[in-house]
Amino acid sequence: MSTCEELSGKRVTVAGLGVSGIPAAKVLHGLGAHVTVVNDGDDERARAQAAELADWAAARSASDKGGGRRAGGISVRLGDGDTLPDGTELIVTAPGWRPDKPLFAAAEKAGVEVWGDVELAWRLRETGSGRAPAPWLAVTGTNGKTTTVRMLAAILEAAGLKTAAVGNIGVSLLDAVLGEEEYDVLAVELSSYQLHWAPSLRAHSAAVLNLAPDHLDWHGSMAAYATDKGRIYEGNEVACVYNVADPATEDLVREADVVEGCRAVGFTLGTPGPSQLGVVDGILVDRAFVENRREQAQELAEVADVDPPAPHNVANALAAAALARAYGVPASAVRDGLRAFRPDPHRIEKVAEVAEVTYVDDSKATNTHAAEASLAAYDPIVWIAGGLAKGATFDELAARAADRLRGVVLMGADRALIAAALARHAPDVPVVDLDRTDTGAMAAAVREAARLAEPGDTVLLAPACASMDMFANYNKRGEAFAAAVRTLAAERA
Ligand code: ADP
Repeated sequence: MSTCEELSGKRVTVAGLGVSGIPAAKVLHGLGAHVTVVNDGDDERARAQAAELADWAAARSASDKGGGRRAGGISVRLGDGDTLPDGTELIVTAPGWRPDKPLFAAAEKAGVEVWGDVELAWRLRETGSGRAPAPWLAVTGTNGKTTTVRMLAAILEAAGLKTAAVGNIGVSLLDAVLGEEEYDVLAVELSSYQLHWAPSLRAHSAAVLNLAPDHLDWHGSMAAYATDKGRIYEGNEVACVYNVADPATEDLVREADVVEGCRAVGFTLGTPGPSQLGVVDGILVDRAFVENRREQAQELAEVADVDPPAPHNVANALAAAALARAYGVPASAVRDGLRAFRPDPHRIEKVAEVAEVTYVDDSKATNTHAAEASLAAYDPIVWIAGGLAKGATFDELAARAADRLRGVVLMGADRALIAAALARHAPDVPVVDLDRTDTGAMAAAVREAARLAEPGDTVLLAPACASMDMFANYNKRGEAFAAAVRTLAAERA
């Protein structure tokens, strides 16, 4: 029996109103399931969403003249996401719901399966259009997922394939598998949360870009976080792509149960060994997907084809290339795809050059691992940092960046943590502590940075922190930085 048929008439509880819950509830209702949505919050927004969903379901049921699969409305229970509704046969959860919530303990006790949004999409992909479902090339990692998935989609497109970048970006997974478009192959971004709730997912090939502590409060421990990331390799058919510089990613490949013949393929910024992709004299080369990998290497693209050519971004390009090559894409498409790729905003984005100083917006560097990567890409740097630390420590970052820092400007709630780390590891670097957490502080930060910078320097916004103490999100933070730089440019013009 197909998943669609199985779901018809089933009592399904959707955990969480929101970006994944509402579409999931609609799809399940359309398949004839009896849907109850449970939600922790009972605020104005949740009530409006609940009312809209109930209206939508009522209208659909009314227009259904008895021949369809739909079995009734959608009920929504606000303010209690912890009690398992009576008769529940399956839970479909928003990926962010923590596994230690009482709802899931109750489900386990009752023998009720829990699927995340990715699991639902994966199970339904067979039934989208009747033709063979598009294979998934999947990407996870602490940082670089969105960039790599977009690069991968650009490469696949350059090879003439019908594809989409899906997951937390672009097209939603459910739309990609159930919509009208028929894809040849999908480039899929997966978070550790999504992987936790996707037990039966089997990608064609997958990459783990890197592993650094993040979201540990959710997963419970670094080991649990790594285990969830490692699920992406389970059942891979052609290649498990890992980061040679991050041995934890290779360990995950070793632990995975894959299809017979599936290969471990590494990517490295150094000279590649057999079964690796790497860099030789400014050229991205493939020693994995070539006839004779002991003797031969295939030229793919130049480092200069990667935008921007910062080391971590070249690593992202190699991972994307490895997945595309695993799918059989020719070398020329890797080059053309990388040339066509443009990074998303606020990811090491050059804003302007003012008085021979380059201003770069990496507002998306919301953790220390990401900030470390962008600090490694420039020299000398005036660094603008600070915000919400989310439990991070800054000693390693300060020690590694110390030699490159012309100066530092700090703002935001947890700036004292960064200041203390700099005092320990970079005592000679001038630090301006703005002592501010208001939105307007960004303009002051840019002015202070301009004062510290000398011709040839880079002023880099790479906060190593989340933005919510000062801004609605990292986009707004990046926009504030860019606006302040533009004002500066106009004044100096
Ligand atoms: P994600 O989707 O995993 O959040 P993004 O591509 O949006 O990743 O990039 C997020 C941040 O991580 C950016 O600030 C960027 O500078 C940094 N970053 C991107 N790729 C890497 C990488 N391979 N290693 C470390 N940091 C990276």
